[in-house]
Amino acid sequence: MSSVISDKHFHDERAAYAYVEARIWPDGPVCPHCGNADPSRMKLFAGKSTRLGVRQCNECRKPFTVKIGTIFESSHVPLRHWLQAIHYLTASKKGISSNQLHRTLGVTLKTAWFMSHRIREAMRTGSLAPMGGAGATVEADETFKPKAKPKPKYTDKAQSERFIETARNLGIEETGDAFNEIVTRIAKAAPVRKTCSTIELPAREKARR
Ligand SMILES: [Zn+2]
Repeated sequence: MSSVISDKHFHDERAAYAYVEARIWPDGPVCPHCGNADPSRMKLFAGKSTRLGVRQCNECRKPFTVKIGTIFESSHVPLRHWLQAIHYLTASKKGISSNQLHRTLGVTLKTAWFMSHRIREAMRTGSLAPMGGAGATVEADETFKPKAKPKPKYTDKAQSERFIETARNLGIEETGDAFNEIVTRIAKAAPVRKTCSTIELPAREKARR
């Protein structure tokens, strides 16, 4: 009797694509750019020089793979390694650490951390878990990511006026817990109010013009 991990989709890239496609597209491929699901209006590239699983949509003329819109998007890690990582993370009672994943898959620690981060994010159900509560301390801080305007040709404005606000990042930390990076990454001023209604944010400053 062979073990679960000897299944073909854990070792063969083509089988891994077929496995993921069967789950994401149970009724056949769908273009993630325009929603086209007509199999006669798309084409699978099967040449030796093209990447595996690339299709061309004849409606919007854009190429796509099953990875677009999933945790595998923009990742160069082979899909079979992703499937192995998902198996290891979900099959063991307490999950596995990024260090363990790094040793088991033979990927760098940075890659292993990135993979487990994405997998755990995909495993999350519902909305973000509420922070704080009776006796807990929640700290919040924010920062602006300024972007320099193109330097004006003739002006005597101060250097500081060349910067405009482009994004506001907010970090929330519950004392004793690891920094909630997911909140930091997705939080912009407006959604944060929904995420943590107990924290009063200062009024949005007017962007410098
Ligand atoms: Zn399309």
